Amino acid sequence: MRGQMFPSNFGELLEACISFCRESEKRMKSERVQENRAKLSSFVEAFHKQCGTLTPSVQERIEDLKNEDCIVLMTAHQPNFFAYSGVLRKATLNFVLAERLHKEFNVPVVNFFGIADQDFTDDRWVRSCELPAVQRSGGILSLNVKVPEKMMLNRVSKPSSDHLKSWRTEIEKWIDDASGSLRRSCNAFGFSEKFAILYSKLRENFGLFWNIVEDSYEHAEKYSDFNAFVMSKIINSAWGYDTLFTRFSECQQIFVDEFGYLLSRFDDYSLLLKEARELPGTEDLAGGVSDQEPWLAPFWYHCDCGGKFKLFVQEKDGSLFGTGNCVRCGEYIELGFGAKKSPDISGIASKISARAIPMSLVFFNGLVPSCYVGGIGGFKYLLQAQHIANRLEIPFPPLTFWRPHDRYLGLEQAIAVLEQKRICADLNVQSLSEARNCLESRISEIQKKLGALEESRKKMIEELKNDPNNNSLKEEIKRISISHTQWVRSSNLSVVTQQLKTLENVNTVLKLVPCIIDYAVNVGLKEASDQWIRYLIENGNLSLDFTINSVLDEIGANLGLSPSIWEQL
Ligand SMILES: [Zn+2]
Repeated sequence: MRGQMFPSNFGELLEACISFCRESEKRMKSERVQENRAKLSSFVEAFHKQCGTLTPSVQERIEDLKNEDCIVLMTAHQPNFFAYSGVLRKATLNFVLAERLHKEFNVPVVNFFGIADQDFTDDRWVRSCELPAVQRSGGILSLNVKVPEKMMLNRVSKPSSDHLKSWRTEIEKWIDDASGSLRRSCNAFGFSEKFAILYSKLRENFGLFWNIVEDSYEHAEKYSDFNAFVMSKIINSAWGYDTLFTRFSECQQIFVDEFGYLLSRFDDYSLLLKEARELPGTEDLAGGVSDQEPWLAPFWYHCDCGGKFKLFVQEKDGSLFGTGNCVRCGEYIELGFGAKKSPDISGIASKISARAIPMSLVFFNGLVPSCYVGGIGGFKYLLQAQHIANRLEIPFPPLTFWRPHDRYLGLEQAIAVLEQKRICADLNVQSLSEARNCLESRISEIQKKLGALEESRKKMIEELKNDPNNNSLKEEIKRISISHTQWVRSSNLSVVTQQLKTLENVNTVLKLVPCIIDYAVNVGLKEASDQWIRYLIENGNLSLDFTINSVLDEIGANLGLSPSIWEQL
């Protein structure tokens, strides 16, 4: 799908963006877009001031937004809880792209990162994050936050400082548990000193990350800001990018004209939404236009309760209205949007936010960005939005996404491979899949034998009911029960079952796409960004998984943990 619909490597993406910039120059320089960008700059500045990331380069880019030659690149995401790398590397891709476009055109290029903080609290990744953990049930340690349902994220207060402390304790325990395991292996091979150096590096890396977390916590009042500030501090401070952040909840009021345009073309817009549902090639993708969408206003209206009104568009005597209920408290509302031919929503602009499909339509129409880096989950929406944009003469930039699985040797990945090696050696097999097959067939053999014993015991108990004084039958039942217990013991069923569980956890750990904490500790924040940038410049394939270096590489080599461990998965 990738090759046909969007660029599959960095070079192609760059070419597509260059063409788009050339074709769209007039639109970018239009008075309306220039005004929107200037308005956006004030919201950007407010965000970075509050976050504490108004760095000199951020300040320069804010000024650049008011330059009529400026090229804008865009991405957006919800303020995830300790986001995973897929969220943060969107900024890396735009950062590298911006440098190249600046070289090509010699004009200012701005990376814009929208924080979708008016989205509902229901998404899994704004409530939890995951770390690999071989010894824990399921192979995963997850940190969780309790937030009310169906609320806008920016209406939820930040968690208490006790939560912050408990996360820190959990993460430190996670590092220490895993370090304990690895230390034993290192001691056995005579690498105690090397391990001591490694351990202090891991703790130092965690310390740097936790400073960011505590600083973000202090600057934030709302939960969404806490998460967004962590993202901005990683990207702007630790990585030194000039990415500009804004809260969607604040900046969408800029787009009064763009929302008005969609309302003025509502009949076409509605029809195109119906068509978009049947778009060929998107059948297997998740998400996309809902059944009600063609009848809904392109925006939510914010309720005082923290929820949002879903508005159905109606027409009466040449005027448009939106009517509907708040999805949280159920209250009913009726809002006038003005004359059908020239709707005006300026009176309610500060209390609206775009629905999923029109989000890209108003941003692309209003700011004319030259690239949009999306996420996997939102891709169907973007393809459907593209269909609508093309027919409503709304500019639509080249789209891409970049979500490989980084392969690196972190603490848990190292323990996973050591566990796998230990079990394989025990079973005298070579690979994870062989070991799994071997254990599964042993378990099924044992269970078959135990099942047969249980079956004959049941049968004799039935017989005993008809012949209660049959002593030899009683003896036989006793003998079978003893034999059952002996079998469980001698077959090592509990050990074999535990080994299989461990192997499943090994598989989970090596396949997991963990949250940024795993990178911060094992790779280092800055080092992760540097390696991604280098990959984009030297390789640039946006679909391939690739290996990055971690602080464990040297010890890993000493322990015989080859980088090819992932290939057998
Ligand atoms: Zn409400």
